[in-house]
Amino acid sequence: MTAPYAVPGATHVYSGKVRDLYELDNGSLLMVASDRISAYDHALDPPIPDKGEILTRMSLWWFDQLRDVAPNHVISTDVPDVVAGRAIEVERLDMVQVECIARGYLTGSGLSDYRATGVVSGIVLPDGLTDGSPLPEPIFTPSTKAAYGGHDEPISYEQVAGLVGEDLAAQLRDLTLEVYRRGEAIARERGIIVADTKIEIGLRSDGTLVLADELLTPDSSRFWPADRWEPGHVQPSYDKQFVRDWLTSSESGWDRAGDSAPPRLPDDVVEKTRARYVEAYETLTGETF
Ligand code: ATP
Ligand code: MG
Repeated sequence: MTAPYAVPGATHVYSGKVRDLYELDNGSLLMVASDRISAYDHALDPPIPDKGEILTRMSLWWFDQLRDVAPNHVISTDVPDVVAGRAIEVERLDMVQVECIARGYLTGSGLSDYRATGVVSGIVLPDGLTDGSPLPEPIFTPSTKAAYGGHDEPISYEQVAGLVGEDLAAQLRDLTLEVYRRGEAIARERGIIVADTKIEIGLRSDGTLVLADELLTPDSSRFWPADRWEPGHVQPSYDKQFVRDWLTSSESGWDRAGDSAPPRLPDDVVEKTRARYVEAYETLTGETF
């Protein structure tokens, strides 16, 4: 895989769907957020201008807000000019191979599972919930971490314990729920409902759990404007739902179940998506992008 940026003093080691990792001479990593956007496990074209910088700034804001909940991987934002604003020097961690997800509201794949079985990630939910319903309490709904291009599969807490051991499983669940609760409360004061979130947790060699990757962004979470929340249908949102909705509309002509790659996003979808990311950042942090 070719390095997306030629970064002086850094060697490209990995590219995820959105982020590119480089190794620095001092042994730490440089995590660079690109403007790439993915939906339904496909990388989309074209990128969304400024997205990498917006998500980087938002994650830094959240790491700071939640610094008393858990340590985070941030070392420094003093990075080479070519990636300024979109990159962070981070602590290299041993990433936990489970997607740690918390849900406070029912929608998306959780809603599909609930409708089919009444159960989400092994947790039995009450009858009568609909799209956008609040759950009696936030739940931990982990999933497998699929290789690039694969689909993450929901797993139960017991399955996580089988994969990583009882001890670590309990720590992952407790931290994920704590991050969700704290994040949800902070966002709510600013008029945003965090319906669910996925966090990535890494381990230091001494076993300490550290928040890594991105935190509470519209890519990793569902953000809903609180004043427009109304259970019973898909909620308007600050996240990629806009792109998802266009892809699955008849206008895009794309068959999600088929084998073909999604079509190119039209300019107005790109522009509206960028505006949503900016709006989410400004609403949350109170800062101007
Ligand atoms: P996947 O994680 O399955 O590749 P992704 O879409 O989350 O999908 P990106 O966020 O684009 O991938 O890529 C970032 C990659 O860097 C992820 O694999 C993430 O686990 C890894 N990562 C993030 N922070 C750290 C860290 N501090 N140490 C080591 N790896 C990290
Ligand atoms: Mg990631």
